[in-house]
Amino acid sequence: MAPAPTSTKTLTTTGNGTVMKTTEESFKLTSTSNGSALSNGLNSPLVTSSNGKVSESLREKTGSKTDNSKSKRIEDEEPLKLVWRNVFLFIYLHTAAFYGAYLWLSGQVMWQTFLWGFLFYCMSGFGITGGAHRYWAHRAFKANTPLRLILAFMQTVAFQNSIHEWCRDHRVHHKFTESNADPHDARRGFIFAHIGWLMCRKHKDVKEKGKCIDMSDLEADPIVMFQKNYYVPLVLTISFFIPTLVPWLFWGENFITAWFFAAQFRYCITLHMTWLVNSAAHMWGLRPYDKTINPAENKSVAFWAFGEGWHNYHHVFPWDYKTAEVGQYRYNFTAAFIDFFAWLGWAYDLKSVPKNIVLQRVCRTGDGSHANHVHTESEKEFEHPEAGPWGWGDADIPPEDIAVTEILYSQKEE
Ligand SMILES: [Zn+2]
Ligand SMILES: [Zn+2]
Repeated sequence: MAPAPTSTKTLTTTGNGTVMKTTEESFKLTSTSNGSALSNGLNSPLVTSSNGKVSESLREKTGSKTDNSKSKRIEDEEPLKLVWRNVFLFIYLHTAAFYGAYLWLSGQVMWQTFLWGFLFYCMSGFGITGGAHRYWAHRAFKANTPLRLILAFMQTVAFQNSIHEWCRDHRVHHKFTESNADPHDARRGFIFAHIGWLMCRKHKDVKEKGKCIDMSDLEADPIVMFQKNYYVPLVLTISFFIPTLVPWLFWGENFITAWFFAAQFRYCITLHMTWLVNSAAHMWGLRPYDKTINPAENKSVAFWAFGEGWHNYHHVFPWDYKTAEVGQYRYNFTAAFIDFFAWLGWAYDLKSVPKNIVLQRVCRTGDGSHANHVHTESEKEFEHPEAGPWGWGDADIPPEDIAVTEILYSQKEE
């Protein structure tokens, strides 16, 4: 089915003068083009906007201007307001996690409980990376109902807000990276990007621009809405009661040990592993794909966050299901996880950016650290769009990028 152009519904002018299109209708444009429109242009020789050419229409639409995010200042700074309830909850969590670590290191945790905690750690990881991040927030692949149920269950184990809220924060993060509208704006420093943002009230721009993000695809997903509506009982049961009660009832673990190790310690570790993507991977590492943005390639974060540390690539090509260029699953367990389900036939329409397109972008905007970077005159001309696409399905993803994206394990819609 050919994508039908839809009209712009409203224009929102923000504090910085950025004009952003409400994407409620525009999702229709790209969601209908997900499958069929793509197969026509896989090997198109077009130089895409990803390669640095920002089309006039995109620039008009987003009000984008030449900008280097590294030099962005925090304009219109509001004093941060602490949310004391969250501060106390995090103090409890870290105290409890330290006690859980002590129980483990002093040999008081049964091996079955250790494996049980590790299982919940892995489920949390894949629930966030494969589920909330690559599937729901970025639409980087499609999944059948059993896989969506598994991903939603595992995302609930992670207790990082409902899928709906997680994805809205993440789409705003991609569209307005390192601006006042970025929920974990890394310009405010490591602590803020890591944990501080969860202990502060959201900046008004986060709320204002968050309302303009298209969430219609998630709101049409009954699994997402069920989890949102019953989030508190689901989280208490899946993330805390089950991890504690099973070791106690089934292999005689001490109840207190199960609570502090398998629930609190495990939860705290998974949070920090995820947060490193927002903090460390926005600060330290090479920028072979786009030197004008702060997100960087960070191998340590990639390892601990199941493949989410290749963050310079990810912010340039957010619709790529691998979130990285690297092959052989190098520190990218989530790509292996998705490939496994694609092999089973449960995941399909995996979006991937072809190597030649990636290399064109490397040569145009990279920092020179990529092994295949060839310096060209056009590197100087690059203008970074202020509001790039959050992923597949966003109206701001240029049609040229859609045309050259490869769709792996393609399946016809039921
Ligand atoms: Zn992302
Ligand atoms: Zn990021």
